[in-house]
Amino acid sequence: MKKTALVCGAGGFIGGHLVTELKNEGFWVRGVDLKYNEHAPTDADDFAVGDLREQNFVRSVIDQRFDEVYQLAADMGGAGYIFTGENDADIMHNSALINLNVLESCHKRNIKQVYYSSSACMYPEHNQLDPENPNCSEHSAYPANPDSEYGWEKLFSERLYLSFNRNYGMRCRVGRYHNIFGPMGTWSGGKEKAPAAMCRKVAMCPDGGEIEVWGDGLQTRSFLYIDECIDATTRIMRSEVPEPLNIGSEEMIAINDLAKMAIEISGKTISIKNIPGPEGVRGRNSDNKLIAEYLNWSPSQPLREGMERTYNWISSEVEKAGAPAENS
Ligand code: NAD
Repeated sequence: MKKTALVCGAGGFIGGHLVTELKNEGFWVRGVDLKYNEHAPTDADDFAVGDLREQNFVRSVIDQRFDEVYQLAADMGGAGYIFTGENDADIMHNSALINLNVLESCHKRNIKQVYYSSSACMYPEHNQLDPENPNCSEHSAYPANPDSEYGWEKLFSERLYLSFNRNYGMRCRVGRYHNIFGPMGTWSGGKEKAPAAMCRKVAMCPDGGEIEVWGDGLQTRSFLYIDECIDATTRIMRSEVPEPLNIGSEEMIAINDLAKMAIEISGKTISIKNIPGPEGVRGRNSDNKLIAEYLNWSPSQPLREGMERTYNWISSEVEKAGAPAENS
């Protein structure tokens, strides 16, 4: 019999790619989301459009004992969504409800294997003040002090899933994503992340023009290409490792240098103007020691390769959309 999988958040960026991978592996897949993916038709065998905050809807889609359930649905976005404070109540309320509902239904159906997508945003702010030496090792999570409500909700939900392991014998697994990027991700509208925002700004900027970058541009991050993220996700899901593991790249880069990379890839001459804007912690980098030790996993390609693929995809989307030139 075919193995079955449920992907919550299948209309989103990582969920869409995950559905494709599970189909390639031979699973029967049901996707669930508020919406279909805007950028590509789904590969799922069955796709339910609905709201995972609604308990009855969740019960209706978790109607069988799936072999694997991936919970990626969340109210989220890039710095422009998470760090302004304007969306805090929605972020906490919506994502917590989704996790409470999904977990309850999985438990009732006796589903053991559940993957939860946490985020590097749950790491304490005080370890990420020095852009050159951020500490995001898994054991640095406590005492907790995330810099956003998004991070606090992730921390709460991690604990929720792990408590179901302890009390109900489930096998929930947790990955902490560090800035995943690639084609078919959000690239405009305010919920896009830095690599997509840089690619869009550069693609829309005329040769000889200028793009705006939030902050002084010295804040650092690392970015992981989507294919690597999917590989690490399924490995963690099927592993014997119950503790949360980082899924990220250790190739840290300053945001201005990320912008320069996108400019170089475009072949245009563009200057950078740093302007005030939401930026999050000063420095963040993945620490891959634990996942390398437990699962022998580390990213296989440099940032530049993924940025080239992403820039090519976003510039063709910009062209398709016939978007006017912008400089912010
Ligand atoms: P995404 O926004 O593209 O996907 C999330 C999906 O969840 C969206 O399609 C959205 O419609 C869906 N969703 C939201 N509320 C819902 C609801 N009430 N009912 C049903 N569906 C709902 O985000 P993504 O980049 O694919 O991220 C997937 C997961 O990984 C999220 O939990 C996110 O917090 C986590 N994560 C992502 C990153 C990253 O860099 N992309 C980093 C850290 C953590």
